[in-house]
Amino acid sequence: MNELVTLLNRYAKEYYTEDNPSVSDSEYDKLYRELVELEKAHPDDILPDSPTHRVGGLVLSNFEKYTHAYPLYSLQDAFSREELLDFDRRVKERFPTARYVAELKIDGLSVSLTYREGVLQVGATRGDGTIGENITENLKRVKDIPLVLDEPLDITVRGECYLPKASFDKINQERQANGEPEFANPRNAAAGTLRQLDTAVVAKRNLATFLYQEVSPSHHQNQEEVLQALEKDGFSVNHRYMVTSSMDEIWQFIETIAGEREQLSYDIDGIVIKVDDLAMQEELGYTVKAPRWAIAYKFPAEEKEAEILSVDWTVGRTGVVTPTANLTPVQLAGTTVSRATLHNVDYITEKDIRIGDTVIVYKAGDIIPAVLRVVEQKRKEQIPMDIPSQCPSCGSDLIHFEDEVALRCINPICPSQIKERLAHFASRDAMNITGFGPSLVEKLYAAHLVRDVADIYKLTLDDFMTLEGIKEKSATKLVKAIQSSKDNSAERLLFGLGIRHVGSKVSRQLLETFHSLDELSKASFEEIAQIEGLGEVIASSITSYFEKAEVHELMDELTSYGVNMTFLGQVVSSSASLSGLTIVLTGKLEQLTRSEAKEKLQSLGAKVTGSVSKKTDIVVAGSDAGSKLAKAQELGIEVRDENWLRSL
Ligand code: NAD
Repeated sequence: MNELVTLLNRYAKEYYTEDNPSVSDSEYDKLYRELVELEKAHPDDILPDSPTHRVGGLVLSNFEKYTHAYPLYSLQDAFSREELLDFDRRVKERFPTARYVAELKIDGLSVSLTYREGVLQVGATRGDGTIGENITENLKRVKDIPLVLDEPLDITVRGECYLPKASFDKINQERQANGEPEFANPRNAAAGTLRQLDTAVVAKRNLATFLYQEVSPSHHQNQEEVLQALEKDGFSVNHRYMVTSSMDEIWQFIETIAGEREQLSYDIDGIVIKVDDLAMQEELGYTVKAPRWAIAYKFPAEEKEAEILSVDWTVGRTGVVTPTANLTPVQLAGTTVSRATLHNVDYITEKDIRIGDTVIVYKAGDIIPAVLRVVEQKRKEQIPMDIPSQCPSCGSDLIHFEDEVALRCINPICPSQIKERLAHFASRDAMNITGFGPSLVEKLYAAHLVRDVADIYKLTLDDFMTLEGIKEKSATKLVKAIQSSKDNSAERLLFGLGIRHVGSKVSRQLLETFHSLDELSKASFEEIAQIEGLGEVIASSITSYFEKAEVHELMDELTSYGVNMTFLGQVVSSSASLSGLTIVLTGKLEQLTRSEAKEKLQSLGAKVTGSVSKKTDIVVAGSDAGSKLAKAQELGIEVRDENWLRSL
């Protein structure tokens, strides 16, 4: 139970707070179920931080907190017809005549909208159910949310904000073209959009809503009336719902919708079944986490058949050789999939996967599609998989260690490994050198300009300009990005070194304890192993890394280039802060005085200056802005308004 709670809470943080899940929803649901079963069997041992006892989601500090007048709940879930019948029995025992409304379960994020005298006052996320984030300014940019209602109502309404599939594809194409990480799915893209600070980005992204709840005071009798009233008040309501007292009819509805799911222009992950009568709802009440009057049937994880056309073997930065199948393209959970991981050589052998096989593909975690198994009945020819015995990058013999599932190249100067290590060093969570991605590494390596991470700090403007496709402007940016990475707090450097088992969180923990790489390199196995949550595997990996003479040479070299080796207690260049940006205020602000605005911007890390120059990053223009605004426009500097300022 301890293990499950820790794991589920980590996944929940990635999903709700960071909008960046590392496992699929069905994987999360499977573990959650396991925990529920264990808790049923051992009710006295339920852990206080169990996710089964609270609504997931934390409040990001970027936004003001908003305390909901009425809490928002999660939903109990069901994965089979039997579980729905159990729910029906529980309800009908109490209310034999109960009717249900079955609605589509929109895969977005819940939002709560409060109107006073018909004017939108506050829009907030669910958060932990009691406290959410005040994202009013962002929600005002969602086109189908009315800012003013026809009637001067005092109401709070709730629903789901989502990103249509077409907009999701477009955003990901753009992100891919800009070398930015793609969103895992439309839900994460919607959540990520609403929880970032730039309202202009929200306006561009075509978010939409479906409302389904009116929070007190409600003078309606049942859920169907609520849906009709919401529509009359000008909200978007999903019309694809049904009202019935029969679970058989609901099951038919579920099957019909499951068949139509792919054609819908938005993602859904199930069907929500609610007791229609609001008085009955009130009587049935709530658990700590969810209403007793509703249940969400969750569709099983999507799986598709595809044919394996060929297999690519690639070498990662630790020398592990990974097979990836090239497939006939299939549509899977919102994206076109033509490549899927085969994990490792043991997986291929165990599942007897061959080229030409028809296989089942699914999305294992995040956005990574994986091959699940072979469809035996469809096996045509017998083309056995060609398992490499030599490294596809450097040609040295591959090793299959007894305790490992993978093949490994142990040549320390294998080009693929070197390039992967360089790209990892420069990546966002490591040294965060913008523009220094795999394609640049490829060019630098081919031009013999880099062989290890210290070489990055020897690169000059001229070096970059000898590379194909790199002009002075981007070369200057790269040099600047490399320079500023020297000032990073040292946990980024430690993570960037790519020591086995030392991820970004562990790196931070280590630096918080030892303060500098020098101190860490002198730490004993015991000192490291006793740090909470780390243990012997990590301790042994670190001590053996720092035993090597070449590691000390590398540290000396990096120090001589001015790379910071100490913990600075803060993460440099967090995307949420304004650190490093120069901002100019101009014109008249309505809600803030100039000095209040200045103080707030400074507290977010910005430098606020008085005149517009090429060095200015953003100009915030109030009303009657004059020459400074004109100059900003002339220089092509980003211009923002007071709403943007307030949304910060
Ligand atoms: P939920 O998403 O299963 O159900 C509750 C939510 O459904 C409500 O808050 C509401 O926003 C939404 N909803 C959509 N349409 C609705 C409708 N017509 N009527 C009422 N509500 C509707 O519950 P949750 O607590 O938000 O999240 C739990 C789920 O999130 C898990 O089952 C899992 O699938 C996913 N999750 C995934 C990870 C991961 O790492 N992949 C981590 C945590 C949670």
